[in-house]
Amino acid sequence: MSEKIYDVPADWAQHAYLDAHGYKAKYEASVRDPDAFWGEEGKRIDWFEPYTKVKNTSFDPGHVSIKWFEDGVTNVAWNCIDRHLDTRGDQVAIIWEGDNPSEQRLITYRELHDEVCRFANVLRNRNVEKGDRVTIYLPMIPEAAFAMLACARLGAVHSVVFGGFSPDSLASRIRDCDSKTIITADEGLRGGRKVPLKANVDAAIAKLADVEVDHVIVVRRTGGTVDMTPGRDVWYHEAADLVTTECPAAHVNAEDPLFILYTSGSTGQPKGVLHTTGGYLVYASMTHQYVFDYHEGDVYWCTADVGWVTGHSYILYGPLANGATTLMFEGVPNYPSNSRFWEVIDKYKVTIFYTAPTAIRALMQSGDAPVKKTSRASLRLLGSVGEPINPEAWEWYHRVVGDERCPIVDTWWQTETGGILITPLPGATRLKPGSATQPFFGVIPQVVDAEGRVLEGACEGNLVIADSWPGQMRTVYGDHERFVLTYFSTYPGKYFTGDGCRRDADGYYWITGRVDDVINVSGHRMGTAEVESALVAHPKVSEAAVVGYPHDIKGQGIYAYVTLMSGVEPTEELRKELVSWVRREIGPIASPDLIQFAPGLPKTRSGKIMRRILRKIAEDEFGNLGDTSTLADPGVVEDLISHRQNKK
Ligand code: ATP
Ligand code: MG
Repeated sequence: MSEKIYDVPADWAQHAYLDAHGYKAKYEASVRDPDAFWGEEGKRIDWFEPYTKVKNTSFDPGHVSIKWFEDGVTNVAWNCIDRHLDTRGDQVAIIWEGDNPSEQRLITYRELHDEVCRFANVLRNRNVEKGDRVTIYLPMIPEAAFAMLACARLGAVHSVVFGGFSPDSLASRIRDCDSKTIITADEGLRGGRKVPLKANVDAAIAKLADVEVDHVIVVRRTGGTVDMTPGRDVWYHEAADLVTTECPAAHVNAEDPLFILYTSGSTGQPKGVLHTTGGYLVYASMTHQYVFDYHEGDVYWCTADVGWVTGHSYILYGPLANGATTLMFEGVPNYPSNSRFWEVIDKYKVTIFYTAPTAIRALMQSGDAPVKKTSRASLRLLGSVGEPINPEAWEWYHRVVGDERCPIVDTWWQTETGGILITPLPGATRLKPGSATQPFFGVIPQVVDAEGRVLEGACEGNLVIADSWPGQMRTVYGDHERFVLTYFSTYPGKYFTGDGCRRDADGYYWITGRVDDVINVSGHRMGTAEVESALVAHPKVSEAAVVGYPHDIKGQGIYAYVTLMSGVEPTEELRKELVSWVRREIGPIASPDLIQFAPGLPKTRSGKIMRRILRKIAEDEFGNLGDTSTLADPGVVEDLISHRQNKK
């Protein structure tokens, strides 16, 4: 992996909240006395009744229980909206940029208050109460934010399902949390194409013999025709006309649920992750402030969909709790052209930009020109999340997008963690491309071997977290046993992340991939990230995914799926060149045994490569691909199977 180090730019060390010394002192304080540290930090949000207890957590597999600020009473929507009204009622809270560049909306905090109250009243009129689950299946339109905050205002629990999911995936998520109310739109719009959301909801409900859906609230987005079932379905704009813009914020206990969100499904059946109110908001707010060094006047853009945890914590809750201006984008990076992201940055003078490696790699494919024709002068910070970012993609992001001026925060976290756990702080941390670097305040990462022994110094193994932090999930909805089994049984007493990792001599953490994906070649254990990064470093390669397959001599062989840069021909010669390239970059032990050129890789809807499916293909187990319901494009799998490399 890259050993290049980028120093903290001088102006950053000076103007950011914390420099290197500041980080160290604050981190040490946070782990020395979590009660004192979080007791103080909890005051960053408003409480209707203050907490007297701070941390009450146990990772003991016998009785896993996680409570923060447990006797405090608050409301997330109040904190994200009402408390800002006196000081920033006329400031823009949400910038909405439509799929079509001609569509936009600027929503001030005062307008946000009115819209959210209206939405909450529409829900209240349909008997939605504290604790009720509401499924939200919307495109990236402001109403998605209004609906989520409206639930929070009432103390109802939202379950946002990404608008790209099929009726089957939607149905299983409605059933799992037994929600009686669904919020959707007539159609979604992405990259100029319409998505039949309401029709999908109808199809999902038709599959749900065992769940009674009482209300479907339909937001008009495209004006496309949809079937409305009388008594059950209502147009949002009609219902909203009948209600006021005042709705009291429910008094909600810190440990009352805020939302359920299903994991991406990269490694198996999605889990219904449950997050609660107080600790989650404190943690989302604090990480948003420090990781992105958010200051008054920043224009902040996270490109995630609200259907993912990144959208929950870092489009909505963290930024709004901090009174920020947050940008919400309905479209895709390559519509109407590959310059779209950068044009949007110029249009709104975005200062902080947070996206995923999959988007960066896709945009890299078409070269520098679509980026360079834009200014991006407003940018001061870049972020990455979702997968390990290959050093090659990191360097491109830094050099081409950020003009070598903007630090990159590579943020490691999970749906389960609620917020960022391992990350640089831009004014404090020297950067190493490909490393998520160091723990956030209150986070105690450890590297353990297969037997659970804690490794010291430079080492490689499995990533666990030794103690609780406020943003941690509290349970798997309706299945606490699965929660304990999945996260606290592998290494009793510790939270098991499922990720492999390396810690270098400077104490920096490098995520090497999922533990399930580790390859063992002739007794050498290897993470997938390293081999993939070596392949991506080749000028003709745009993306790569590496898995193991049974090999008579080595135990496991290395099977690499490689996507080439646009316009590059896949040839036998190139195949050989890539094998010797990896051999040179990492060593003979890592040289791929088989390389399959693949025009596309199977990815989750959030853009993560699904290696478990690639592994099945490499193992010839086509009949047994497991849960494929969260795949973005199932067609890719058929294509890969038909072009599989012959292992004989
Ligand atoms: P499932 O748990 O259902 O298999 P998932 O793990 O893909 O799905 P998420 O919670 O969306 O669901 O993703 C979290 C995972 O994403 C992490 O465990 C890690 O593997 C990967 N990840 C996220 N950010 C980073 C990062 N900055 N560097 C490396 N890996 C990352
Ligand atoms: Mg996971």
